Amino acid sequence: ETLSNKIAAGEVVERPASVVKELVENALDAGSTRIDIELEEGGLSRIHVLDNGTGIAPDQVEQAFLRHATSKIQNEDDLHQIKTLGFRGEALPSISSVSKLTVETAQNNAAGIQLRYQGGRLIARTKAKARQGTSIVVEELFFNTPARLKYMKTVNTELGNATDIINRTALARPDVSFRFVHNGKQLLFTNGKGNRQDVLYAVYGKQVAENMLAVSRDSQDFEISGFIAKPDINRASRHYISVFINGRYIKHFPFMKAIEKAYQTLLPIHRYPIVVIAIEMNPMLVDVNVHPSKWDVRLSKEEELLHEISEMIRTRLQKETL
Ligand code: ADP
Ligand code: MG
Repeated sequence: ETLSNKIAAGEVVERPASVVKELVENALDAGSTRIDIELEEGGLSRIHVLDNGTGIAPDQVEQAFLRHATSKIQNEDDLHQIKTLGFRGEALPSISSVSKLTVETAQNNAAGIQLRYQGGRLIARTKAKARQGTSIVVEELFFNTPARLKYMKTVNTELGNATDIINRTALARPDVSFRFVHNGKQLLFTNGKGNRQDVLYAVYGKQVAENMLAVSRDSQDFEISGFIAKPDINRASRHYISVFINGRYIKHFPFMKAIEKAYQTLLPIHRYPIVVIAIEMNPMLVDVNVHPSKWDVRLSKEEELLHEISEMIRTRLQKETL
């Protein structure tokens, strides 16, 4: 069991940012409205994610660290309409197998429980103070996989990767308050009031936030909304384009192309727009079970969706430049 978890970790846990991503997704799946993320040294020495979600029942915490013991999928039907960010039941066992992990969790402000894992082995189990939610601390990531450790980049690079994931998650979920602290310094705070423009302000700053145009479009299958930057506010990379489907950040090249094309002729060569678009659609039409990172998708009505997105952007930009 410990060995197979370590092997799975090779796919799920690539670097500190992947740990952050998995823990934050779990916090969101648990219905949290506040998520605190604290990193030390880009997450290489310490990652702490604290949430106010449902917590885990004391007698189920150990279960959560067993492979494929997800509470989110009961049967094959569920797998075809995934409504949660997680569903593989691999993150906790994988992360705990390559780090020193402490979980403290409780439900409904009742007495909690604390478990400590080291390289996947349970080394301590104690009672913990009452709380609502879950706290997970991951220390010394890859301490027992030296080859993997060697591939870690500088603190700044690891921090950049983690920041990217946290920023996008905050943009995806304006209804959740995120606080992100690195080496004691607060890098992001969002108020959780549900206003995406507030999050744009927190993530990209005043100048960008004030130059974004609100967009939305409804069709039979899709509810699309978001913000697109005026063409004169542009960037040198695609990095500032974020597309979310049902709250999940998606890296899908056809979306990028469609969005860039909608801006065609309005942007200087080699410049890209800042775009944040959230799509709500029937989970049956989305297959997120393509890769463990869950970043790519297959869509049943891809052509239609791409068309809606392009038309939405094109008409809004036309209106602006008239
Ligand atoms: P998955 O998210 O794919 O179900 P994980 O390994 O990430 O698998 O988590 C295992 C299980 O632990 C989850 O299914 C969930 O029941 C529980 N869990 C993990 N993190 C949290 C959390 N922050 N709050 C409540 N429950 C959690
Ligand atoms: Mg998960």
